[in-house]
Amino acid sequence: MTLTVPTNGRMTPEALGEELLSMLGGDDRHMKEALDLLLSQAVMHRASDVHAEPYRGMLKVRFRVDGYFRDVVELPGEVLEQMVARVKVMAGLIVHRRDIPQEGRIRIEGADFRVSILPTVAGEKLALRAFDAAGRLMELEELGFSSPTLVNFEHLLGGLSGTILLTGPSGSGKTTTIYAALKRIHDRYGDHAAITTIEDPVEYDLGLFAQVQVSSRSELSFASALTSVLRQDPGVIMLGEIRDPQTGEIAMRAGLTGHLVLSTIHSGTACGVLARLMDMGIEPYIVNSSVRAVLAQRLARRLCKHCVDAYEPDPALVDLVKKYAPEFDGPFLKGKGCPSCLGTGFHGRFALTELLVLGDRLSGLIAEKAGTGKLERAALETGFTPLLSDGIEQVVTGRTTVEEVVRALGTEVSP
Ligand SMILES: [Zn+2]
Repeated sequence: MTLTVPTNGRMTPEALGEELLSMLGGDDRHMKEALDLLLSQAVMHRASDVHAEPYRGMLKVRFRVDGYFRDVVELPGEVLEQMVARVKVMAGLIVHRRDIPQEGRIRIEGADFRVSILPTVAGEKLALRAFDAAGRLMELEELGFSSPTLVNFEHLLGGLSGTILLTGPSGSGKTTTIYAALKRIHDRYGDHAAITTIEDPVEYDLGLFAQVQVSSRSELSFASALTSVLRQDPGVIMLGEIRDPQTGEIAMRAGLTGHLVLSTIHSGTACGVLARLMDMGIEPYIVNSSVRAVLAQRLARRLCKHCVDAYEPDPALVDLVKKYAPEFDGPFLKGKGCPSCLGTGFHGRFALTELLVLGDRLSGLIAEKAGTGKLERAALETGFTPLLSDGIEQVVTGRTTVEEVVRALGTEVSP
């Protein structure tokens, strides 16, 4: 049997399926080797999750890469039971209990995986999530920000005072951006910056500065931890999320009194965050004096450089691009799909952003408690680049497709 090995030892799904079948050959003696192979391939394909589940009498294995599931192999149904049993032994779980959810952790081929086993009506479903502590600490330059945003964002961090808020749905890369920001501050100022984080939970012990874990189930809430942290007077505070008015108020006041506060807050857009803070009952004068900027972001997939090719998008999408970039006359690029990208046409992700820096014009509107629409119109007049403009710019520079931008931003396109 010949294996098709595209690059870096990555096998195609077909080759991986054949290899796993030949290894297992009807018994479970080689399950350990088969799991090693499956998970090392998952790591090579940059999968964040591996799911193995019963499906129509078969075992279906899927990888989640760049946020999307991709069917990888189908194996005979009986393999699932052996695989689950093997993982349970490795994770120290109860092998004979097949009727309860179980969770644990395993280490294979130098990578850590969080194990979750769920009883379904068709049999147990196995989910493995890769811990990528090292992958979490990226440089600001690796996030894919457009250059004006990168320059402005880095400049804001250098101020070491005030509040900088990040927003975007879960899975939009906010945590990665915050960690990259903290790493930059730490690299530049070392221990002088005195960074403390308050997180729910601390998933990655970075080993660079103090990290405090809070939980909605314990006495240590975001608000109480923040009050205690402030008594120690750190220079930089990263607060995992502002969920309630009390936490918001303490965070804003900390930003007013000589600290740099980095936090996330739930809202769709940068201007929406300002309206949300006021809805929380935080006084406009506190927002105005504390908040220096709001960054909204979404993740879009980057074109696979191995299979990029010209194509013609749907006319409505061409019109959308022309609206923001009238001078652009192609070519439009997309990935055709190749073994290296598991046929998706994409490899890796980057952040689409909008960075709203507060100035006099916006401050005046905040003082009047203006709504999101009014804030947005004023921001646009002062040169603010909204998410969609940034996305179209990324299409023009050939980094992603217009379809991907529309998907990532949830933009409605009229035909
Ligand atoms: Zn490709």
